[in-house]
Amino acid sequence: MPISVADMTTRVPQPPVFDDVVAERLHRKRRLATALRMFSKFGFDEGIAGHITARDPEHHDHFWVNPFAVHFGEISASDLILVNDRGDVVEGDQPVNTAAFAIHSQVHAARPDVVAAAHAHSVHGKAWSSLGRLLDPLTQDACAFYGDHGLFDDYTGVVIDVEEGKRIAAALGDHKAVILRNHGLLTVGHTVDEAAWWFITMDRSCQAQLLAQGAGTPICIDDEQAALTARQVGGHYIGWLNFQPLYQRIVSEQPDLFA
Ligand SMILES: [Zn+2]
Repeated sequence: MPISVADMTTRVPQPPVFDDVVAERLHRKRRLATALRMFSKFGFDEGIAGHITARDPEHHDHFWVNPFAVHFGEISASDLILVNDRGDVVEGDQPVNTAAFAIHSQVHAARPDVVAAAHAHSVHGKAWSSLGRLLDPLTQDACAFYGDHGLFDDYTGVVIDVEEGKRIAAALGDHKAVILRNHGLLTVGHTVDEAAWWFITMDRSCQAQLLAQGAGTPICIDDEQAALTARQVGGHYIGWLNFQPLYQRIVSEQPDLFA
């Protein structure tokens, strides 16, 4: 029996469902290590800057985060640090970036639906952030952010205060992403996979808009079509699904990330 194109839609991967927090924790840590390795491949590392976090599936006010001052490309699942809502390291023996706690603790607290949050000083994201404006729906991919990203229209130095983290979480609102003016991008998701994918595609949407504006006057997708496309390409499942080919590639290239 031949497989039709329509049949294929029922055969695409689906997010795993867990009834065991130990297995779910291991899964989230492995995905987090994968996302960090991927950020390295995309060139999103900038010295000591950048952090991706994943909420613990059992202790919901704790999150896993990359250790401070370790290259994204060197991080394995066993290197990840568990931090509680007071900033205490609960598991792991390496330091955590103060900014990671100040920002991510407040995002996780404000958004109980969010499992993961990603932030890095990627070149196109930070270049776009300096314009202090939202992305336009210039491409199909950029429509994932149509009506679904905020702007933190302020800059007051390195984020070391949880009060600043609260203001960033407020600017994020119910959206999947926020542009931090003069700083960079922050994305969230219901899975690590989704948060990482939104970051990757948002940075590329920033790049596309910068290129298009540099070359001329780009044509925006009209509001009705942008809203339709946002529903088609901007959902949680599509965000998760887009990560899967990248996941397969990096795991085959770098199997030590599960160490
Ligand atoms: Zn930063």
